[in-house]
Amino acid sequence: ESLINRIAAGEIIHRPASALKELLENCLDAGSTSIRVTVKDGGMKLLQIQDNGCGIRKADLPILAERFTTSKLSTFSDLSRITTYGFRGEALASISHVAHLSVVTKTKTETCAWKAYYLDGALVEGKPGQTPDPKPCAGNDGTTIIIEDLFYNTPTRLSALRSTSEEYSRILDVLTKYAVHNPKVSFVCKKAGSPSPDLSTPSSSEIPQAIRLLYGHSIAKDLLHVAFSSKKKAENEDEDMEEDSGPQDSGSWAAEAHFTNANYQSKKMIFLLFINHRLVESSRMKRALEAVYSGVLPKGASPFIYLSLQINPRDVDVNVHPTKKEVHFLNEDGITDQISDTLQRSLASQSN
Ligand code: ADP
Ligand code: MG
Repeated sequence: ESLINRIAAGEIIHRPASALKELLENCLDAGSTSIRVTVKDGGMKLLQIQDNGCGIRKADLPILAERFTTSKLSTFSDLSRITTYGFRGEALASISHVAHLSVVTKTKTETCAWKAYYLDGALVEGKPGQTPDPKPCAGNDGTTIIIEDLFYNTPTRLSALRSTSEEYSRILDVLTKYAVHNPKVSFVCKKAGSPSPDLSTPSSSEIPQAIRLLYGHSIAKDLLHVAFSSKKKAENEDEDMEEDSGPQDSGSWAAEAHFTNANYQSKKMIFLLFINHRLVESSRMKRALEAVYSGVLPKGASPFIYLSLQINPRDVDVNVHPTKKEVHFLNEDGITDQISDTLQRSLASQSN
């Protein structure tokens, strides 16, 4: 049974960066404004994420790493909380099957923090002879998740990993993208023992500022911005779409994009795609948007595009598992066309 669990977990957690992505989303769901990541050996030895979010109640700790344990779906009609992929309560459980998982957490009402260790979905004692209860300890409000020895028991997964530096750069890439998408949240990433962070963002920033900080001035100075939706079809520049109230009707959607103009050229396209606040990939969308630039940029040159798309959770293909790289949703072609159109018009109008 544990072998099956391990294999299933390996399908969800592919590498340190995919574990990080799940944990980041948990931090953000918990309302954190500060997220600090510490990494040893590309996340294979240690991947630690500290947040200042709502914390986990002590009473919830015993079952935290059981499969399908989630605090995020209290009512059936609570659709806005469903993240994109019909995938609930699997991240921590999966991690506990392929790594050593520890959690330190404190809610505002608790007088001290609690620490718990998990193995194969269950709370375990920290040291031999101790009862498997959470242990009181010092700690700030919020949660620290500590993953050690990832894939220690799954040699095939371990051997599929690249070098520690390659895994670390994937971690930084995921963090960088989430930092752009969440400019109000401060992100820090450092190697364990290193005095200076490799990534550090302020809180209360805005997306263009985050892009400048993380991707550089040469991209940031050539950015255009559009925000638009299926209902109100317009290039109402600088008018943010409503946060937290995603599209409620089936078929309705909203999008916001920051993208480079004709002055910026890169060899490789940089594409950040968030659907319902989750970082995803869509080669179809990527190709379509790159094609918009074919009349704008010389051959071989590529743009930077950040695109945040909000669609009704019911319109996302729930049969596609979240870890499958490619995402699919209702009316994908129609939405892609409209986004391409809007970008095209915006690029055309600024070159006049
Ligand atoms: P899901 O996010 O789908 O609910 P997870 O396995 O990722 O499932 O997490 C299980 C539960 O653990 C969450 O529903 C949440 O209650 C709690 N949790 C995990 N990480 C955090 C965190 N950083 N802050 C607060 N609660 C958390
Ligand atoms: Mg989660």
